[in-house]
Amino acid sequence: MNSRLLPTLAGYWDGAFRSVTAQPTFDVVDPASTEVLATLPTYGASEANRAVDAAVGALAHTPSLEQRRQWLLTIERELLGNVTELARIITAENGKPIAESQGEVNYSAGFFADAARQLTHLESRDLPITAKGHRWRLHHRPAGVAGLITPWNFPMGMLAKKLAGAIAAGCPTVIKPSELTPLSSIAWFTLLHEMDLPKGFVNLVFGDAPAIGNVLCERMEVRVISFTGSTGVGRLLATQSAPNLKRMSLELGGNAPFVVFDDADLDAAVDHLMANKFRNAGQTCVCANRVLVQDGAYDEFVTRASDRIRSLVVGPGADLATDVGPLIDERARSKVASMVADAVDRGAVIAVGGESAPGAGAFYAPTVLTGVNGSMRCSQEELFGPVVAIERFADEEAGIVRANDTEYGLAAYVFSADADRLERVAARLHFGHVGLNTGTGPTPEAPFGGMQQSGLGREGGLEGILEYVEIQTCPTPAAP
Ligand code: NAD
Repeated sequence: MNSRLLPTLAGYWDGAFRSVTAQPTFDVVDPASTEVLATLPTYGASEANRAVDAAVGALAHTPSLEQRRQWLLTIERELLGNVTELARIITAENGKPIAESQGEVNYSAGFFADAARQLTHLESRDLPITAKGHRWRLHHRPAGVAGLITPWNFPMGMLAKKLAGAIAAGCPTVIKPSELTPLSSIAWFTLLHEMDLPKGFVNLVFGDAPAIGNVLCERMEVRVISFTGSTGVGRLLATQSAPNLKRMSLELGGNAPFVVFDDADLDAAVDHLMANKFRNAGQTCVCANRVLVQDGAYDEFVTRASDRIRSLVVGPGADLATDVGPLIDERARSKVASMVADAVDRGAVIAVGGESAPGAGAFYAPTVLTGVNGSMRCSQEELFGPVVAIERFADEEAGIVRANDTEYGLAAYVFSADADRLERVAARLHFGHVGLNTGTGPTPEAPFGGMQQSGLGREGGLEGILEYVEIQTCPTPAAP
């Protein structure tokens, strides 16, 4: 695709874009039209090693907090100054509606603004003690080179969370975006290249994911692996990294319950469901996967939600009228279709949609399934599509048990007019993010992450930066 932010379609290490011509290549495809947007070199272990070498070189000099603050604020400014073009690239390679892509760029910029604000917490300080007759000074050292591996569903947002934390901590990075959506990262590197970052401080490789991942896990100098993606790949990276005892920050899959009690404001609950569920055509880790509605509200909730869902417009993300874009590829659409078929085989009823939608890309009609239960794949696995699967429950205890009935623990949502109940239920849910009368997802200023098989560590806020920090404690004899 033509873009002023994509003058060179290549990876980047040691301070320059690397044109490699004698490589195998791969295509980046527009999910709405299936047209090829770009053909890129397939980098592997040798390029990943060069990128790590460059990052190791950048470790020689730790940037001051003030220097990092300037970089973070410059990146925020560059992102905000290029929202339109960056959003066009995100929509081209990911398929999401253009307004969502613009929101993603703004969201990304927010991580840099917040990281800049958090830097004061990284200043060295003396503890207010003289234990053992010593003064105790505490420093926040960069953990070392960080390997950042990101998914396709938020091509900029998921990288922004990691890169802001790593830069704030002073860590050089080797970045590996998804091969389905690498163009947003390349465009971002065009902006980073214009900055005064030291050579090797930021590096970009893509192509052979297992080969690159292996290098990042096996190289001892890479001290942090920060990964967002599926639980299966997260486990694999943890296994590969175990011999080197790296810090692992793993943002993995979810299976979010969206629990609506009888006393909830149903219009508000439906509004929040619409905003939460259909973002990126349902391909987000935090979107409601199991909509659990109490008996007394069930029929009314199904009617109101179905009416809203029937009116959604499906189409290419670049079309301003579009509410729901295509799924990322045909494989994703077959997976959604097979989960809907499985649910119907096991007794669910299709109230809305339930089929592919017309168009060259992998479009799928917004769908409502009712009569869902725990035996169905759609309640056990991530749907990752525009399908609302609704199940009924009898009382508070049953709602909590069903909500917790998953190995995942990323996001959950609870709707009720009873503030005590909201508190009571949240305390018993094993999810890292619990929306109370809201379907909102993460924000840059607050730590976000999963419990159980949804991962380790947090992104956003001060906690997101500390994933890249080693605390060093220096005692020295106190003056008598
Ligand atoms: P994925 O696990 O298939 O891929 C994620 C990244 O890992 C990609 O860059 C991919 O190329 C790379 N990868 C794949 N195999 C690898 C290997 N062997 N070694 C190294 N890297 C490898 O996930 P995806 O399909 O891109 O993204 C969807 C998944 O991400 C969903 O499960 C979703 O829930 C999850 N996700 C989680 C969060 C969160 O915050 N917890 C956010 C967004 C997405």
